[in-house]
Amino acid sequence: MSLPADLHMHTPLCRHAVGEPVDYARRAVEIGLQEIGFSDHSPMPRDDFDDWRMRADQLDEYAAKVRLAQETFPQLPIRLALEVDYLPGHEDWIRRLATRQPWDYFIGSVHYVSDSWDIDNPAKISEWKKRDAFEVWKNYFDRLTLAAESTLFDIIGHCDLPKKFGIRPTQDCTPLYEKFLAAAAKSGCAIELNTAGLRKDCREIYPSRNLLELACRKQVPITFGSDAHAPKEVGMNFTEAVALARSVGYTETVRFEQRQRRVVGI
Ligand SMILES: [Zn+2]
Ligand SMILES: [Zn+2]
Repeated sequence: MSLPADLHMHTPLCRHAVGEPVDYARRAVEIGLQEIGFSDHSPMPRDDFDDWRMRADQLDEYAAKVRLAQETFPQLPIRLALEVDYLPGHEDWIRRLATRQPWDYFIGSVHYVSDSWDIDNPAKISEWKKRDAFEVWKNYFDRLTLAAESTLFDIIGHCDLPKKFGIRPTQDCTPLYEKFLAAAAKSGCAIELNTAGLRKDCREIYPSRNLLELACRKQVPITFGSDAHAPKEVGMNFTEAVALARSVGYTETVRFEQRQRRVVGI
């Protein structure tokens, strides 16, 4: 059985990844991946919003870098996508972004639970100590539910990101998961199995087995992503991710071309 497509990879344009798209593609060919997609961090309406994404005037440069990888490895389907930050009120901006390139898909991710706190930013880990963990998780899943309902995204990224640093609420989060997954099922967006969690303090794929079981029951489609910020991370831990998906009952994954979904067996 071949490994699934890696639909979540970054480029140096986001200022915290290394290696050009051609290098990621070369690694993908080396390990036998049959499809990949670049989904670098989207620009914000203001370029000075933070310092971990491309600027709005770099979208053409981004597309050109991905095109060079496509031309260098014509045997490997390479998709052009974005990991778009979802913040309430950004919907029009995201719709405008969607017209800027011939995108294959958008991953909608929540990193910000307020305009100033990106909960996965190691530089802001002290913010966690000022708040109740369950409140943060609730804010996060409220935003994730809005993202799923927005129909702006094909995939929702790393959908239990607040566990990154291993700070977890003692309360049962199942109702938060249920509400989000009902929205995803209704609007038809997929969720990703993101193996970057295995490389963080939480030491666990995003999302948890519990969340993934609920997703499978609601027939929410899945994709796979390494969230690679370096070529060596491409396709990392995909064997474990496939095993997890199968163990909760998934037999299929989805891929995207020109924002059209295609089902593939796993
Ligand atoms: Zn990143
Ligand atoms: Zn992300």
